[in-house]
Amino acid sequence: MRSQLIQGYEVVIGFETHAQLSTQSKIFSRASTAFGAEANTQACAVDMALPGTLPVMNVGAVERAIEFGLAVNAHIAERSIFARKNYFYPDLPKGYQISQFEIPVVQGGEVSFFMEEGQETVHKTVRLERAHLEEDAGKSLHEDSSLGASMGHGRGHSGIDLNRAGTPLLEIVTQPDMRSSDEAVAYAKELHKIVTWVGICDGNMQEGSFRCDANVSVRKPGGPLGTRREIKNLNSFKFMQQAIDFEVRWQIDQIEDGHAIEQATVLFDPDTGETRAMRTKEDAADYRYFPDPDLPPLVIGRDWVERVRSEMAELPRVMAERFVKDYALPDYDATLLTQSKAAAAYFEATAKACGQPKLASNWIMGEVSRRLNSGEVTFDNIPVSAAQLGALISRISDNTISNSAARQVFDGLWNKEGPSGSAADVDALIDAKGLKQINDTGALEAIIDEVLAANPKNVQEYKAGNAKALNGLVGPIMKASKGKANPAQVNELLMKKLG
Ligand code: ADP
Ligand code: MG
Repeated sequence: MRSQLIQGYEVVIGFETHAQLSTQSKIFSRASTAFGAEANTQACAVDMALPGTLPVMNVGAVERAIEFGLAVNAHIAERSIFARKNYFYPDLPKGYQISQFEIPVVQGGEVSFFMEEGQETVHKTVRLERAHLEEDAGKSLHEDSSLGASMGHGRGHSGIDLNRAGTPLLEIVTQPDMRSSDEAVAYAKELHKIVTWVGICDGNMQEGSFRCDANVSVRKPGGPLGTRREIKNLNSFKFMQQAIDFEVRWQIDQIEDGHAIEQATVLFDPDTGETRAMRTKEDAADYRYFPDPDLPPLVIGRDWVERVRSEMAELPRVMAERFVKDYALPDYDATLLTQSKAAAAYFEATAKACGQPKLASNWIMGEVSRRLNSGEVTFDNIPVSAAQLGALISRISDNTISNSAARQVFDGLWNKEGPSGSAADVDALIDAKGLKQINDTGALEAIIDEVLAANPKNVQEYKAGNAKALNGLVGPIMKASKGKANPAQVNELLMKKLG
């Protein structure tokens, strides 16, 4: 839903996202973080909380947090603190989770993106409150889950898999800045793009590497914030939208029926499309946070931050701004072309090859994306090289071929008829398919004369002032030329001949 009032209520949404950091080993131990291993084969003594073990900070996780902070223009705390968040859960063997509470490593920052609102493209900014480092818990596997079955415990039992315990997470918390499910999904997509672009998270939502909790409330415009309910662990953009839309309608119905909203944690069930309360929400006090005495404060010197900054690749929003400035592209094009590094690189190479950035952009957002959307192909294994697309665009603009002929050549290239992958394939295909436009004025004039002689009625009508009669002439001329006449040139010659 878009950000308009719903039955007179304004929607307020804030996100907490857990991005699993792409380190080889865990945040406080040397066990592997690889996904999908046999249960409990990747849990070491630290992850199992055996007595006498101590956590040791993984520098790679800290470095990724710094990269994230820089990517969203946040403040990187020079000194941050790890805390124990105490709660009992079978898959949390220590009885507490190591997290950051009072002083997180990343403070503030923002995520900006474009989104469609009605006919307009609008620019939105969601402020971040913080991003903090923490460890993931293990997994409880219940009797009828497939993993549970594979662990060999029978019906009526649960098993614990501690492979995920101690996996590094960055929890990214926004201000309650979003006003619709559309805006929430656009934010989540942008955040997903940032973490994968920077390379701190693989972004695999099915495997749980990027999971979002949506805090949702409704209020009368201008009134105080309503009580929120938190929808946990949304792991697809589609479910995110459905869950928020359902939750908003549910809350409004409750309030309209005279019930107060109780703060709660809820789960979305994709099968029913409904959210359902899991537990009433704990407050910070319930967790009895205190600084973890096993870990010293995390100290990050400015030199470290600057070194990380100097090693980071150009960020998507910086690149999009550069595309607007250097290639004179509209914001819309620049945003779409910077959806992934591979797409952006393909665009730049094509633009350079043909010297016509806007045409390159049109082709990529049109013909190219249409085909990418309908198949298994991505920019990483695209059959038409940027050099070929660039050459093709050059052949349109130097009038060698028409747009429709260019689409036929593109078809051929896509189907691997241009085996070398080089620009030369384009000219070879144009020749082989006989698609060259007739630019030779003499040849074209001969065709035009024939068509004029065969269609005296149209000629008369045109001369009598009926401009539409011209269409009746252009069609047959294009046909007689087998589509190879240059339409602009045909027009010009026709005008001359008809006076
Ligand atoms: P907790 O850590 O207990 O979940 P926080 O106060 O840190 O609570 O808020 C968590 C998230 O909930 C943040 O993203 C915040 O923006 C959002 N949030 C807070 N209040 C509201 C509200 N009334 N409606 C919607 N979202 C809210
Ligand atoms: Mg929270």
